[in-house]
Amino acid sequence: MPENEPLNCPDCGTQMNHHADKPDRGAAAADDSPDAAEDFPVIEAHSCPACGRTATRPARG
Ligand SMILES: [Zn+2]
Repeated sequence: MPENEPLNCPDCGTQMNHHADKPDRGAAAADDSPDAAEDFPVIEAHSCPACGRTATRPARG
């Protein structure tokens, strides 16, 4: 699977590092479907090497 396109830091514009993929438990909690607890959407965590800001976005399937 190809890498997603880079995410630029919203503060300083530096290309951020994609350092993790993790389940978005917050989003799942907002869904009252009983099946949602075992099927979290995945979000990408990014960090800026220049200013240290972190950001997330939904991972693309
Ligand atoms: Zn930055």
